[in-house]
Amino acid sequence: MPASYPQLTAPLKIGSHTLRNRMIMGSMHTGLEDRFWHRDKLAAFYAERARGGIGLIITGGFSPNIRGWLFPFASAMLTPFDAYSHRKVTRAVHEADGKICLQLLHAGRYAYHPFSRSSSASKAPINPFKSKALSTSAVRKTIKHFARAAKLAKSAGYDGVEIMGSEGYLINQFTAPATNKRTDEYGGSIENRHRFPVEIVAAVREACGPDFMIIYRISVVDLVPNGSTASEILQLAKAVETAGANMFNSGIGWHEARVPTIVTSVPRAAFSEATAAVKAAVAIPVAASNRINTPEIAEDILKCGQADLVAMARPLLADAQFANKAIEGRSDEINICIACNQACLDHTFTNKRATCMVNPQACHETELLYPKAEKSKRVAVVGAGPAGMSCAITAAQRGHKVSLFERRARIGGQFALASQVPGKEEFVHSIAYYERQLHICGINVQLNTEANLESLKGHYDEIVIATGVAPRIPNIPGIDHPKAITYAQLLNGSATAGERVAIIGAGGIGFDVATYLSEAKPSATEDKDRWLQHWGVDLTGETRGALTEPEPEPVERRIWLLQRKEGKLGRGLGKTTGWVHREHIKRRGVEQYDNCEYTKIDDQGLHILRDGVAEILEVDTVVICAGQESQRSLFDQNNPEQQPHWHIVGGAKLAGELDAKRAIREGAVLAATL
Ligand code: NAP
Ligand code: SF4
Repeated sequence: MPASYPQLTAPLKIGSHTLRNRMIMGSMHTGLEDRFWHRDKLAAFYAERARGGIGLIITGGFSPNIRGWLFPFASAMLTPFDAYSHRKVTRAVHEADGKICLQLLHAGRYAYHPFSRSSSASKAPINPFKSKALSTSAVRKTIKHFARAAKLAKSAGYDGVEIMGSEGYLINQFTAPATNKRTDEYGGSIENRHRFPVEIVAAVREACGPDFMIIYRISVVDLVPNGSTASEILQLAKAVETAGANMFNSGIGWHEARVPTIVTSVPRAAFSEATAAVKAAVAIPVAASNRINTPEIAEDILKCGQADLVAMARPLLADAQFANKAIEGRSDEINICIACNQACLDHTFTNKRATCMVNPQACHETELLYPKAEKSKRVAVVGAGPAGMSCAITAAQRGHKVSLFERRARIGGQFALASQVPGKEEFVHSIAYYERQLHICGINVQLNTEANLESLKGHYDEIVIATGVAPRIPNIPGIDHPKAITYAQLLNGSATAGERVAIIGAGGIGFDVATYLSEAKPSATEDKDRWLQHWGVDLTGETRGALTEPEPEPVERRIWLLQRKEGKLGRGLGKTTGWVHREHIKRRGVEQYDNCEYTKIDDQGLHILRDGVAEILEVDTVVICAGQESQRSLFDQNNPEQQPHWHIVGGAKLAGELDAKRAIREGAVLAATL
């Protein structure tokens, strides 16, 4: 079959290695790197991606010495024993015809321990620990440690290393004037600030010989005040190329940057121009990265000459078969990464093993298995939200005959509502993926069909209730007033909001509704230039860190977001995404009130006691976002003694703490046992 993506699927030479295509799995810490006894799981995780056709895999970061640990006893490549323990990983990938490079990452002042070192004494705004400055001799020693770690990686069977020079880690702390205040030969002039990475690359080349792949992850934009300028970055690229690198990968923004770079509201391929500038300056291949999650967007980047390859990390968690599906022209079968961070980065940054919201098998390849069923059963799933669809598809893939009942006219459940929120357009693609899978798996989907006890009893071997949740209606006098609507009514279009709106409840959905009401259409996510202006990013100029004054757009509505609790709103939002939502609605002028008691809704608006003081918010609309309640009556009607094969999953089982991650996982885990 001819490739639908001729550029993406073409082989590429990197040094003396030939990659089978131009899709690479970018580095991502999964939590399986830190302990040698997890190597089998790590090997299974990468081997699955190699079997999925990816051209090259880059591992999570391994420190070249103890001071560079991300946290105490974190992943490192220090001894021959470390190298030996990696042989399982490299063997598994090579047996699957893949190639794999180890990433060398020294955390510098991002290290979460008290004995960290940086270019200069400083403390990162995202870390409670302060770093001391490396002495000149310690800098030279660190360079040797990079070379030693690379040599160990070579002995472990890796095809090369990626030297992590971006995201604000140690090497970046040397290259940018924001953090490098040194007065020795590693600080001051541009050449001096670049000396550390250049000497690392040269030392690695010397230690590992000409055939070992050296990838340098270059920060193509720092997105921090007093970061590098565009011309400094190009100068660094040329020097690193001369020192012996075979390829560049793009890093976008430091971890402490206050510009989002990977969350779902970031436009796809938002930063590819910065990669293109590096590509134009060097002769070796350059990879683009960040918010590239479909073969279409990847092919476009290559076609217009912005990069030679594309690096994707999270999309390979979401679908290990991404590359094969692209090569075989089956991109509509790719399980799309919706850039939610909920199960990957939010896990990593809270010291939990990463997985994927839409693919609970990710990083659990040896534990969550979907074996072919011994006997094909008749399975009914009620509810085509995330839990029901996940259960139905997994059960069908195992060989069961599945019917899926949905009382609405379309599938998607809470995903369909989320897809209406500006910046969450990715959910539309996820629903399209589910729709395609339901078709491929031959699932009998019955829309507009309210399943009941009679229609289910006696007709199926297994019955799964995944009827989801309904908005909780709080007990507030006047809650029946026409001004009061639920978030579901607003997002499904059955109700509209006026010019002045109060939102009751500031959880994830309250924030989503505030975004929905305050954002112009089409959303800035679908208009890259507007988005860059909103966040104050200038990819064309010579400003330090590519930052400029943000230009927020005017907001036509007056919006209040309220909660009963005392304290900052949005505390419970995702670890890596919450700040983006909080900052976004602040820039959109949404007024945020805590410590509220709701006393009445009437023609005047919403009456509250705020810090005990009575106030009337003269609003046209009150949107209720006060959490959810399970819809489980169908399950509760059943007599388990008569019908033991009834199951309940997702929000229908438990509405509290519900998120799509739990719903999808519960659906898949149940289906694995049917
Ligand atoms: P939630 O996060 O539990 O928030 C519910 C909000 O309603 C809270 O602010 C709560 O705070 C308030 N509330 C609860 N009971 C109330 C009552 N009786 N009267 C008035 N206010 C009440 O739930 P959600 O916003 O519905 O979100 C559901 C799930 O989806 C969550 O797990 C969430 O993480 C996930 N989600 C996440 C995102 C995201 O990260 N962007 C977006 C959407 C959904 P007070 O009690 O202080 O008022
Ligand atoms: Fe993508 Fe979300 Fe899965 Fe992470 S958890 S890989 S962001 S879909």
